[in-house]
Amino acid sequence: MNENTAILKTGWNFDNSYARLPDVFFTRLAPTPVRSPKLIIFNERLAASLGLNVQALRSDEGAAAFAGNRIPEGAEPLAQAYAGHQFGHFTMLGDGRAILLGEQITPEGERFDIQLKGSGRTPYSRGGDGRAALGPMLREYIISEAMHALGIPTTRSLAVVTTGQGIQRETELPGAVLTRVASSHIRVGTFQYAARWGTVQDLRTLADYTLQRHFPEAGADDNRYLSLFREVVRRQASLIAKWQLVGFIHGVMNTDNMALSGETIDYGPCAFMDAFDPATVFSSIDVQGRYAYGNQPYIAAWNLARLAEALLPLLHDDEEQAVKLAEEALADFTKQFQSQWLAGMRAKLGLAGAQAEDEILIKDLLDMMQKHRADYTNTFRALTFAKPEETAMSGASEFTEWQKRWRERLSGQRESEDVSQQLMRSSNPAVIPRNHRVEEALEAAVDRGDYSVMERLLKVLADPYAHSPEQAEYCKLPEPSNRPYRTFCGT
Ligand code: AMP
Ligand code: MG
Repeated sequence: MNENTAILKTGWNFDNSYARLPDVFFTRLAPTPVRSPKLIIFNERLAASLGLNVQALRSDEGAAAFAGNRIPEGAEPLAQAYAGHQFGHFTMLGDGRAILLGEQITPEGERFDIQLKGSGRTPYSRGGDGRAALGPMLREYIISEAMHALGIPTTRSLAVVTTGQGIQRETELPGAVLTRVASSHIRVGTFQYAARWGTVQDLRTLADYTLQRHFPEAGADDNRYLSLFREVVRRQASLIAKWQLVGFIHGVMNTDNMALSGETIDYGPCAFMDAFDPATVFSSIDVQGRYAYGNQPYIAAWNLARLAEALLPLLHDDEEQAVKLAEEALADFTKQFQSQWLAGMRAKLGLAGAQAEDEILIKDLLDMMQKHRADYTNTFRALTFAKPEETAMSGASEFTEWQKRWRERLSGQRESEDVSQQLMRSSNPAVIPRNHRVEEALEAAVDRGDYSVMERLLKVLADPYAHSPEQAEYCKLPEPSNRPYRTFCGT
């Protein structure tokens, strides 16, 4: 077989624009091969949409490629350099356990990063082993795919391969490599790195590259770097509003974990909130609650301020003017977040149009949910299907009164009941990746090599707004436990 048929066979079609950036932005480096790669989960629909040949990659060929044992034709593997504020402290980071293979150009002409995570040590690894454990990689697969199905911009998961090698954590764990697909891996931390360790020309090159890759229409603006910042602010406001509306808690919103594309990135200790409480934190390392559910919008704005700082030299020759421009643009975050969140909340309650009293109606509901420890997802589901008796607030007179106000608001709008119920059905998911369900799937996979539990879960999560009978089982809450649910970074 000649080389051309090999390309046709697997469908890889790389064009590696990141590798054409100045050298400071990366280190060329191949993944470290693993002992015995085994493809244990492969996202065939995603593969097909990328123009990959599902048949060809379902084999040892795919296992070798997704383990980093065989570099696909046209790939130019590299580790990206970046910095970041971790829990508020600035530090040099970079891909310490990931390799960007390159950018796959799809049949539609779209460009996606193909990254292997858990692919071995790099110059940025510091003390780490460059590897990843199976459990956390499957967790990223499940949650990122669930987010995608919920309609939330996110990196995707193409495959997980086990390596046949153990990795040492608190105990020895099975090693794995995740193939991640992203619009790009340009992070706030990439700009911080350029501003701190590159020249102004490097910074400008990165900004122009980002404009071209994500915001081409802004490239011709008078102050295109200000436009870049504004666009990033807009995308983050929209993203964080979507997180809040489904109760997603990222868990580690460090500036290196915020992508300029506006996609959710770096699924570590993330989890979905069950009982509504803005103070909810699951991550074992977030002792201060910095990244609690209710703080996410503030943290996003804080991170964007760090991006603005990095961009200052490009915004205006005069620093004072540059600061002023950045501050004005950043002030938009709160306004945009608020309006997107409010629009989303109205949809969750079936409210058409906008009325002044909506905000207080929403606030009163959330306050009540917090007081009664009502499950976030199931409360909106119960309201959607007119089953208030299924909420933890059932029987409380304040809830009865609230429902009366809500129904009055609904009956005052022109839209029919059917229309508002449709709106609610498509705004309130039946299923989210509930913590106990995710754990159950991981336990079966990691401890017993049984992937059927995860496959069933993935199937249910793939259509979260279906409200189908088979989803009912997945809406149930876990048995009460006196131990709070905890997530770990899983590095
Ligand atoms: P994260 O918490 O996943 O955003 O990672 C923070 C930084 O630590 C990044 O630079 C990672 O590449 C690096 N890192 C995480 N786990 C490992 C590991 N096992 N080996 C080397 N570097 C790691
Ligand atoms: Mg990270």
